[in-house]
Amino acid sequence: MNALVNKLFDMSGQRVLVTGASSGLGLHFARTLAAAGARVAVAARRVERLNDLVGELRLAGHDASAYELDVTSRQSVIDCMDAIEAQLGGLDVVVNNAGVSDTKRVLDYNDHDWHAIVDTNLRGAWVVAQEAARRMVEARRAGCLINITSILASRVGGGVGPYSAAKAGLSHLTRSLALELARHDIRVNAIAPGYIATDINDGFLHSEAGERLRSRIPSRRFCASSDLDGALLLLASGASRGMTGAEIIVDGGHACAGL
Ligand code: NAD
Repeated sequence: MNALVNKLFDMSGQRVLVTGASSGLGLHFARTLAAAGARVAVAARRVERLNDLVGELRLAGHDASAYELDVTSRQSVIDCMDAIEAQLGGLDVVVNNAGVSDTKRVLDYNDHDWHAIVDTNLRGAWVVAQEAARRMVEARRAGCLINITSILASRVGGGVGPYSAAKAGLSHLTRSLALELARHDIRVNAIAPGYIATDINDGFLHSEAGERLRSRIPSRRFCASSDLDGALLLLASGASRGMTGAEIIVDGGHACAGL
């Protein structure tokens, strides 16, 4: 049984790009995938912040490399993928994780806020997926794309209108990409996390408002980054060979909280 499980989720030799890997979930995804045997390419705007992670992974005997990437610039995405191709020979899996959020009332958002949020979370993920898929198709290589959406793609919360709209777009785009890329043997799935405790939201999640939020989650707890490991390894590995266009919710039941 152990041998079967190990084989199903084995990522040995798989070349995986994790965008936005300099902090939070992306950093955790890179560690998880490397531990499963993947050759991990980590990318973000500030390469110097990725170097510690690469050093840590290499010290543990893993294959890791860092690349500069701004997902809001198509040229930056192309340059990043060229550099990965030169070093690793291409990509098998892409985790489209880079994202930004903001919290303001509807009446307080301006166009600049809207563009910044939608450009990163939706257009950025689109450009990364499109450029990665183009290369996989040209090389006649099977591949796998994983978009990181949110339970805010299907539920609403105060103060996060543009973010929710962008994530809803990405959720639907996942299915459009899955439809068109299936003929090229490229699978496209998504993970929709609920509120996950990371360094970024630690203050809020432990505040009074955070406590109120936690009390509305059916499991009464915020998930940890490690709670996403199962969904990530399932979607990134051959264990999900028959899955495309799926979105896995990991939220302690938050999205199905009673009204
Ligand atoms: P985070 O801020 O720690 O990580 C986001 C990462 O994206 C950072 O490394 C940041 O530098 C990078 N990034 C931002 N803009 C970029 C750009 N233009 N180009 C390249 N990289 C860029 O936040 P996180 O919580 O780790 O979020 C990771 C992903 O998970 C995001 O897509 C977020 O929307 C999603 N998510 C997070 C939660 C949560 O509770 N933490 C819940 C649902 C979804």
